[in-house]
Amino acid sequence: MNKDTKKDIRKLSLEQLQDYFTSIGEQKFRAKQVYEWLWNKNSHSLSEMTSLSKNLRAKLEQDFEILPAQVHKMQKSNDGTIKNAVKLHDGNVVESVMIPTEKRTTACVSSQVGCSLDCEFCATAKLERMRNLTSAEIVDQVALIDSQSREYLERPLSNIVFMGMGEPLLNYSSLIDSIQKITSEKGLGMSPKRITVSTSGIPKMIQKLADENLKVKLALSLHSAIEHKRNKIMPFSVKFSLEEILDSLNYWYQKTKSRITFEYVVWKGINDSQEDISALVRYCKKVPSKVNLIQYNDIGDSTFRQASRNVIDNYINQLERNGIVVKVRRSRGEDIDAACGQLANKE
Ligand code: SAH
Repeated sequence: MNKDTKKDIRKLSLEQLQDYFTSIGEQKFRAKQVYEWLWNKNSHSLSEMTSLSKNLRAKLEQDFEILPAQVHKMQKSNDGTIKNAVKLHDGNVVESVMIPTEKRTTACVSSQVGCSLDCEFCATAKLERMRNLTSAEIVDQVALIDSQSREYLERPLSNIVFMGMGEPLLNYSSLIDSIQKITSEKGLGMSPKRITVSTSGIPKMIQKLADENLKVKLALSLHSAIEHKRNKIMPFSVKFSLEEILDSLNYWYQKTKSRITFEYVVWKGINDSQEDISALVRYCKKVPSKVNLIQYNDIGDSTFRQASRNVIDNYINQLERNGIVVKVRRSRGEDIDAACGQLANKE
């Protein structure tokens, strides 16, 4: 085979690899070995797969290629956060962030190049959606941040959030496949409980994800529990009513027994009134949930300004009074535009 007909080996399942080895007269267990190099060791080179004979490696190199996602540029924040511009084989770039806290290292990974949704307050939304990432490109981001955590913090990666560029539920098959590879013992062997999928809210896909029984956590970017306001700041959401979203979240809870986290930014003059707080409290009472109040990260659009501490305290008090767990999530990596909603390939 010449270069043009080489197959991307990371698109093959274990069974397909087994079929390949059988077809060239080799034993099946070779597939497992290769699979381990690819998904456990995150190898980017067929020639380094030394548990295979030299001849067999040469044969693999004739038939296959690996299309790695690699660090293009790395920026370090004063708070220890690292933002990676990750270059894909076709020249597209996505961003992945390593977020250290005292005990944990979290990887914030992208699922798409750009985003097809249109949240007014998000920098990624200003980019056109170019394409979905492959599961291998998602796993590469995770493996990269794991190695950075080992190098700079002397501990492995502990958590993963799908809160980078893109809408993970609109790249469903790669999302599921990447989670399987991240959690499988033959892959990176991480616990699914430490993975959070964040969605802008696509009810059908939330139900589908619930049916997969993956044991991951779910976060929903709510930002307003008042329909017309949410539709204004997240225009795509006119297609999905808050009621419909709620039904899908209750379905999620029924299936997984895992509480939903609502992500919520409070903006001056947009969702800072008593009516907004009451609507959120009512919404939270309809499904087992907790709230993360996220600090707004400026993207240079004067419509959106973080609400005052006073308003945030009102939110916290009223949520807590109603028995709803609420956390304030401070921003990380803001000085390098690595914070939520700031990923936009500025370079
Ligand atoms: N599409 C997915 C995941 C990417 S966004 C989703 O919407 O959940 C990750 C989180 O950052 C979301 O909660 C999103 O609403 C939030 N976000 C977007 N822009 C932001 C900004 N400028 N400041 C703070 N949070 C922002």
